[in-house]
Amino acid sequence: MSEKDAKILIIGGGFGGLFTALDLSGYRQVTLVNDEDHFLFKPMLYEYLSGEVEAWHIAPDFKDLFEGQVEFIRGAVTGVDLDARTVTLGNRKEPLSYDVLVFAPGAITNYAGVEGAEEFSVPFRRLDDANHLRRRMTQALDSIPPDSAPQDTRNALTFAVVGGGASGVELATKMADLLRDAVKRRDLHGEPRVLVIEMADRLVPGMGEEIRGVVERALENSRVQAHTETRVVRVTKDSITLEHNGQHAEIHTAAVVWVAGVKPNPLIESLKAETDRRGLLLVERTLQLRSHPNVFALGDIAFYADVSPTLAGTAQLALQEAHLCARNVRAFLQGGELKSKHFLELGEAVSLGTEHAAVLSAGKVMTGPLARQARFAMYTARLPTWHHRLRVGASWFFEGTAPRPLKPLGF
Ligand SMILES: Cc1cc2nc3c(=O)[nH]c(=O)nc-3n(C[C@H](O)[C@H](O)[C@H](O)COP(=O)(O)OP(=O)(O)OC[C@H]3O[C@@H](n4cnc5c(N)ncnc54)[C@H](O)[C@@H]3O)c2cc1C
Repeated sequence: MSEKDAKILIIGGGFGGLFTALDLSGYRQVTLVNDEDHFLFKPMLYEYLSGEVEAWHIAPDFKDLFEGQVEFIRGAVTGVDLDARTVTLGNRKEPLSYDVLVFAPGAITNYAGVEGAEEFSVPFRRLDDANHLRRRMTQALDSIPPDSAPQDTRNALTFAVVGGGASGVELATKMADLLRDAVKRRDLHGEPRVLVIEMADRLVPGMGEEIRGVVERALENSRVQAHTETRVVRVTKDSITLEHNGQHAEIHTAAVVWVAGVKPNPLIESLKAETDRRGLLLVERTLQLRSHPNVFALGDIAFYADVSPTLAGTAQLALQEAHLCARNVRAFLQGGELKSKHFLELGEAVSLGTEHAAVLSAGKVMTGPLARQARFAMYTARLPTWHHRLRVGASWFFEGTAPRPLKPLGF
């Protein structure tokens, strides 16, 4: 292979894959394969659920982002043969070949073998998941006859969010605010009931004390019920069974949303490469696989030594790794020196309901509506491509970011 003709193939168009592709865009032949036709800025999926942002803001099409500089192929990768240097797709007879592979298919929801969880709960990782959840919330509201007793409203609007990490808290406060707003607009009696279920003895266990107090107050304000030291035993079509202190309780639910953890994409298995005990690919500090130096892996599926536990499994990390990856792919092809990097924590920004947020930067916490604006500003800067950032920034500035109420279906 001459360096000029090298084919670079990227699997996965998330934070790791997309930002590597954009960095390499225009350099050699770069192809990105993804099972959906758009990127997704996952940290704002909560705002998409509440209608504070629109799909085009956080899920731009790859074709628009690449502007012809990177080839995009839509398809689900079903296997990778590292020795033959080929990748198989579910919708193509012929495998794709590569000289350099960038492997970044991300994580998947981990249901931890809980009975009924995978079948009946709603995951929260894709645009369609948010659409589905919004529909379930609207259907639950639509099912309540006018003049129902407060208790009936509460029963019809009981939602459980499983997982008390940042995702669970962000989701639960958004859902509670949206539902309460809809109850008011529809003149219903009573209140919605949103539960967060967490196995540990406290919520957001990975977060520092500075931000935890703010999160706890936000949960109280949104009247979210937190159940810690509580295990989910079973999920059915319309219920969740919990275990706390050896006691079981079955609760009727309109929906159960599962954000209680992730596991590496099972595509890793086809690589037959070295993994750690959680199944993450072990990569060199250059992001190369030990066994195959022409294969780079990053993001949620890679274990990179020297990364703090709070940074692992985040978009912040995948994004920083992407720039190192693109740099090292170039160096690899040009016979240059490959580098490593110490990745930084860029601060935390948590959305808390539809009107507030908390931003932690340089050890200081900012809260309230101003923090919500700061979060939007911070995330505008991290969206892919200047062109997209400008369009989205202008839309948020001029058209606003007010939530879209849960109107009855058919309106
Ligand atoms: C709701 C939510 C909120 C989050 N909020 C934050 C936050 O506030 N801050 C933060 O730092 N991190 C956050 N994260 C975590 C962050 O999104 C991930 O760590 C990050 O996306 C990892 O990047 P990645 O490139 O490894 O994987 P991903 O971004 O998940 O991208 C993987 C891509 O590969 C595609 N893919 C998967 N399998 C295949 C296949 N077989 N064939 C083809 N394509 C495939 C997927 O469709 C996806 O596009 C959040 C995650 C979620 C789900």
